[in-house]
Amino acid sequence: MERGLSSKSTFFSHHPTCRLAVVKIASRCNLNCTYCYMYNLGDQTALQQPKVMSIAVIEASVARCMTHAATRGLESFRFVFHGGEPLMAGRETFHTLIASASRWQDQLGVIPEFSVQTNATLLNDAWCTALADWGVSVGVSLDGPKSVNDRHRITHKNEGSYDKTITGWNRAKVHGLRPGVLTVIDPSTSADEAYHHLRALGPESVDFLLPDANYMRPPSYKTDGTPYADWLLRVFELWNCEPIRPFRVRTFEQIMSTTLGIAYATDALGEGENEIVVIETDGEIGPVDTLRAAVPGVSRTGFNVLRNSVDEALDHPILSKYHGANQSLCETCTTCPISRICGGGYLSHRYSPERIFDNPSVYCRDLTKLIAEIRQSVIMTLPKNVLKEANLRPWSSADIEAARAVVKK
Ligand code: SF4
Ligand code: SF4
Repeated sequence: MERGLSSKSTFFSHHPTCRLAVVKIASRCNLNCTYCYMYNLGDQTALQQPKVMSIAVIEASVARCMTHAATRGLESFRFVFHGGEPLMAGRETFHTLIASASRWQDQLGVIPEFSVQTNATLLNDAWCTALADWGVSVGVSLDGPKSVNDRHRITHKNEGSYDKTITGWNRAKVHGLRPGVLTVIDPSTSADEAYHHLRALGPESVDFLLPDANYMRPPSYKTDGTPYADWLLRVFELWNCEPIRPFRVRTFEQIMSTTLGIAYATDALGEGENEIVVIETDGEIGPVDTLRAAVPGVSRTGFNVLRNSVDEALDHPILSKYHGANQSLCETCTTCPISRICGGGYLSHRYSPERIFDNPSVYCRDLTKLIAEIRQSVIMTLPKNVLKEANLRPWSSADIEAARAVVKK
């Protein structure tokens, strides 16, 4: 499933905290997206997992997470139903987790929150009613109009999934749910078409994701240019000139907020801690599992909710690395004037066989341009005296690259 998760990150503490668990409630999927890191990017370990999480693993997962939250003094803890396709686990399985979390809430006072990330193809009236009753917020994976979505988001019979996803989407809207959308960027397609299509659907938010890539497996459209930034900047232009923004876009909000000195981080950008764990269908606790797109098997830790606490798992080297990914930067990133906004990018995008994660993001040029231009658009709206007081001045991509080069000398 997709990444780009946000966990209301705090900013560096000595006791790592987890605020969000991605619960792999089902390990299989009724789709077979070409770019799926679960099945189609080299790591096949998902297929060795039980198809559906057992009651024992669900109960242990909830107990571990809620007690961790209580010991950290958290008011709430978020569970994200994930997969594979999580709806394949069935409503009874969802209800088991929700009921268990409710019992722990009575005991510990920590409020459980719930989301599901789904391809929506199984989203029927019964599911929508249940999700609305349980207060589960919905995220739908959709890559834009049918001609774009069905390039990569296909069934096991090589058929496009768009029609079924839109049927599920429409059911959700009828039931008063207002899902968010996760969209993987394809810069060979029209950003205008994608924007207007998403706008017409009326999502609560859209997360635009860079495709899983690294130095060993470079982005498909990697050129000397900045195709991903250019595509996103066209979307930004359309979104930013709306009188009322029709949906939230976390990447844009994050760059804009951080430019103004307001802390805002996700695991894809920024300087916060990544306060997220993944719980596999068999109970194994790991880091966010897109890392498996970089190094097959890397997300396996041997820690399991049936035997280990979340605290114990957070001490594992790969979880620790992921947790502090935006603080442990390579030399280039530490010399970069926008590292506070960028944070070196997403950890798995930094991977190379030679230097492991000790690299700038493989999307560095795109991130540089994206951040420089959005930052500039924010700065240009501020009065001169505010700019002076805050010591803010616009930087072009060339300014940023020059600053990195000067510091390195
Ligand atoms: S919907 Fe697509 S990307 Fe998500 S788990 Fe299924 S195959 Fe993978
Ligand atoms: S823009 Fe590039 S060099 Fe700067 S922090 Fe991001 S990845 Fe590192």
